[in-house]
Amino acid sequence: MSPRRRVILSQLPLTLATGLAAVIVAVWHPDMAAGPLFQIGLLFHGAMLALACAVPWQRLPAAAALAMPLLDFIPVGMVGVAGLGTVIQLGVLAVIPVVWLAWSGVLTRFCLAMTFLGPLAVVWLPVVAAGSREPAEYADVLMLPAMMLATGWVVHMLSTSARDQHESVAAARDDLQSALEALRREQRLRDAVLETVDVGVQAIDSEGRTVLANRQQLLNEARAGSVPGNQGREWPEVYGPEGEPLPPEAQPAVRALRGETFSDQVVRLGTGASQRVFSTSARPIPGPSPEGAVLAFTDVTGLVQALAVKDDFLSSVSHELRTPLTSVLGYVDMLLAAGDLPDHTREGLDIVRRNAERLQRLVADLLAAASGTGNLRPEPTDLGQLVREAVEAAAEEADAAGVWLKHRTEGPLPAVLDPVRISQVLDNLLSNALKYTPPGGRVTVRAYRADSGHVIEVADTGIGMGAGEAAGLFEKFYRTETARKSGIPGIGLGLSIAKAIATAHGGTIACTSSPGQGSTFAVHLPDRHPVPGHRTPPERERGTHAR
Ligand code: ADP
Repeated sequence: MSPRRRVILSQLPLTLATGLAAVIVAVWHPDMAAGPLFQIGLLFHGAMLALACAVPWQRLPAAAALAMPLLDFIPVGMVGVAGLGTVIQLGVLAVIPVVWLAWSGVLTRFCLAMTFLGPLAVVWLPVVAAGSREPAEYADVLMLPAMMLATGWVVHMLSTSARDQHESVAAARDDLQSALEALRREQRLRDAVLETVDVGVQAIDSEGRTVLANRQQLLNEARAGSVPGNQGREWPEVYGPEGEPLPPEAQPAVRALRGETFSDQVVRLGTGASQRVFSTSARPIPGPSPEGAVLAFTDVTGLVQALAVKDDFLSSVSHELRTPLTSVLGYVDMLLAAGDLPDHTREGLDIVRRNAERLQRLVADLLAAASGTGNLRPEPTDLGQLVREAVEAAAEEADAAGVWLKHRTEGPLPAVLDPVRISQVLDNLLSNALKYTPPGGRVTVRAYRADSGHVIEVADTGIGMGAGEAAGLFEKFYRTETARKSGIPGIGLGLSIAKAIATAHGGTIACTSSPGQGSTFAVHLPDRHPVPGHRTPPERERGTHAR
């Protein structure tokens, strides 16, 4: 309500009440109506209404409106005095400005004082005007101001509590509004994040129904031709990483609903040409009771296809290289066996043979990396014998590199493993140790039983690696900065192959290394079958080569 409207509406009751009194007086008390005081009082009332309408209250301070009830006491007093001696007690009209003052809420003490002093003036002025000196006459009329003060006090209390209530309601409304605004802001932020990431995000409730999915997830579902999560707890079109059917309990949504937290579970969604490969992660939605889970789907179809193409390429290139290399080696061996060759020709042929053999090893590594470790053939084997053979085979290379190579394994070490593949691990670790150890260094190999399995350890005193360098050691095509800069040949496949073979045996491979001090690679191969009658052979140090 505008201030002007409020003032007019507050003034109007007094004007109307006075108007009604004027009609009553005009009809039943014509003498009083004819009196000049009464008529001036009425005119004053009219002027007060006109004043309420004319003043631009909105431009004045709120306290300015108090002038109206204060001035109202004058005409109320006039018509009150005019009615003295009649039964019409128009002084009670003072209650209206009193209520106005008490309700105003500004200049509280002043207003409360005026609720008494205003009516007091209304009742005392006629007594003063009559020149009375009788205290009793002054005391007799005190009832009205006292009642007005009481009324003013009650109205003031009511207005204060109404104002308090209004303020607390307004504060609660403001709090609610700012909470709503914060919520909306958060929602907008969440939506923007969800729509910006190129990862499919899906939230499911405790029944497995989708409650939220971002645009990328809808796109994923459309591409895969399946609707994950919308078909209850089982997804018939979810397959494992190799395309094998995935049992319901291993499917991402079901695992997530069980409360599991996981990352990077690779699944295939959909069938046929529209099948897509996703890396999925999930977290349960925290809450006092199961609230469902959030799943993230990263489309890795392109990556998986690229890896497959790379492996195909590696395997076909390696196959193509292997045949001519075998032929080169065969002919070189034949020529070398021929005997009566001039020395420089023999030396040349030796160089050809060495390089062809190196190429053959590289090609074998490439083939192994491309074909994986699918065709593992475990059989009862003497691991001790494998170690000795590997060390003997590397003796010539160690000799050429000027490195001490020794093994500390004697006697049989029965184990069930794929001898060809474990020999490959030994060869790779040994050739690395020899490659990355400067002349005069030492390389030690040992195999022993430990932790219900076997451990193969290859330790060197070579260039070693820092912790940062060793981080991606077992990844395909990884080479440390130091190795690359030093010009030592290699393509970064040996360790990834060794790790794949150890993993295929259910084992692990680890490296401890420090720069300039050397490295130790340890392969742990757990027992796959009990090895009957096994005992740990005594260790004996035996140098295979010294220089
Ligand atoms: P590469 O053909 O390069 O030797 P590997 O996979 O066998 O490939 O080894 C990966 C990288 O690990 C190497 O390039 C080298 O930087 C580091 N590395 C491996 N073995 C050793 C070692 N014994 N000492 C120091 N660095 C090593």
